[in-house]
Formats: sequence, C-alpha cells, structure tokens
Amino acid sequence: MKFADLHLHTQFSDGTFSPEELVAQAGLHDLAAVALTDHDTVEGCARAALASRVAGIDFIPGTELTADQEGHELHVLGYCLDIQNPRLLAEIAHFQTVRQNRIREMVARLQAIRVPLEAQSVFDLANCRSPGRPHVARALVKAGLCANLDEAFERFLKKNRPAWVPKFKMSAARAIELIHQAGGLAVLAHPGLNRSDEVIPAMVEAGLDGIECFHTKHTATTSQHYLHIAERFRLLVTGGSDCHGFSKGKPLIGSVKIPLEHVEKLRQRATERQAEVSA
Ligand code: AMP
Ligand code: FE
Ligand code: FE
Ligand code: ZN
Repeated sequence: MKFADLHLHTQFSDGTFSPEELVAQAGLHDLAAVALTDHDTVEGCARAALASRVAGIDFIPGTELTADQEGHELHVLGYCLDIQNPRLLAEIAHFQTVRQNRIREMVARLQAIRVPLEAQSVFDLANCRSPGRPHVARALVKAGLCANLDEAFERFLKKNRPAWVPKFKMSAARAIELIHQAGGLAVLAHPGLNRSDEVIPAMVEAGLDGIECFHTKHTATTSQHYLHIAERFRLLVTGGSDCHGFSKGKPLIGSVKIPLEHVEKLRQRATERQAEVSA
C-alpha cells in the first residue's frame, strides 16, 4: 500500500525544515504523495514541487488559512491551488503584513512588562513572511528569557496572557471563496481540535470541499466521527501529520498516513474545479 501525508509545514511558516529537507523526510517515510500547507503562504511550494519531482513523489501545492466562523478560529486548508493566482498572492501578502504587525504588537506588550525582546530578533529568527507565536516563543528561548517553548506560551503567549494578541481572521466563507477562485479545494483542518462541529453546515453551504478526518491530534474515535460527517455532507476526506519539523518536539511527518485513494479523489475534484474556474 502507498500512503500520503497532506498536512506539512516548512520554514516558510512555523516549521523548521526547508522544502527540500521536507521532501527528503517524505522519502525516508516512504510517502508516495505529500502536500505542503504552510500558514498563509504558498512560497515553499515551487521548491517542494521540484524536489518532489526529482524524488518521484506526487506533490500537491497547498496552504493553511486562518479563518473565523461565528467567533470560532478555524483553519482552512487549500489544496491544488494555482500558486501564481494574482488574487491569492495579493491576499496572502496582506495576511503576512498583518502577521508582521502582530509580532510588533506582541513584542511591545512584552517590553511593557519589562521582557526585553526586540521585534527584529523575532523576524531574524523567523526569516519568513508568515511569522507567528511559535517564532516569538523561539526568540524568547534563544534570548534566554524563557527556559523552553512551553514556558513562553504559558507565561506570555497563550490566549489572555500578557503578550497575546488576537490574530486577524477573514471569514471562513471568504477563505473558501479565495481558494476556489485560485482553482483549489477548501478543506476544514483538524476539526477535532476546534470542537465546533456546529460550524460545519454553514461551511458546507459556503462551498467547503473536504474535511481533515485524520490528524495527529485526532483519536481513532475522532477520525471515525469525522468520516461519518464527511459521508453525510459528501465531503472529501483528507489527513496529515501537521508536521512542524523540530519546532514542536520531534518531526511528525509520516506519523499520519492516508491511503492514496483520497489523493486520487482530491485530484479528480480539483480537475473539475479548475474547469469551472477557467470556464
Ligand atoms: P499563531 O498562528 O501565531 O497564533 O500561532 C499558532 C501556533 O502556535 C500553532 O502552530 C500552535 O500549534 C502553536 N501553539 C499554540 N499553543 C502552543 C503551546 N502551548 N505550545 C507550543 N505551541 C503552541
Ligand atoms: Fe503552525
Ligand atoms: Fe492548523
Ligand atoms: Zn498546520
């Protein structure tokens, strides 16, 4: 049997692998297909696609957009997108500017409580356009201001802690529409982490294509639950490890493997979507 991992991050967001390292890891784990889903960016996709072609691995370009549905933060995965789509790139550039301003705001709040971190040290460490809280946490550890990442989140970065700044979120419907007009498929990420199944019907109404049934943080029961939901709403089934490299302990790539039949269905639906978009 051949397997896929459809939820992976690189240095272009909060992962630690380069696109080439990620693909090398995919090869070590014997994956036949992978998708790159960095937060609010598609920048790593071209390099990952090239490395995958060389390695004989099927590559699916993707992204993971932060969105809001009735006050719930949720993540919408976009798959099989045109990574040169002008509107997608314009909106991504905007989200990235918002993320960078949020880092400045978090650092200002840290400085206000006499934690002497500089925004530039976060940007230098992140070295990407989609910086987030994990980069602030790493910068705090690197500067010797926290012993480890957990402490950084617990003391400063978790929701309602002193340096927490809410993240700008577009509506889930807009995220879905943005992905669709770029020829892609919109998939609700790790629903088991959000525990807000009541938002699913509205997202289906907005055009949701699939649901991530398999994820590192889903138990077998959780996966089964979402497989039933996928069946009920006729949604595509996806899954992946949500590997961030070494930024959250050990790399998770390959720890969640889904059968290739799900990738085939995804590709088939994407071909239909692209025909609709170009019609
Ligand atoms: P952001 O998108 O900037 O709000 O950051 C969210 C990221 O921070 C996600 O990848 C989370 O997995 C990570 N994160 C959230 N809470 C923690 C925590 N307590 N320890 C480590 N990482 C965390
Ligand atoms: Fe992340
Ligand atoms: Fe996520
Ligand atoms: Zn993710």
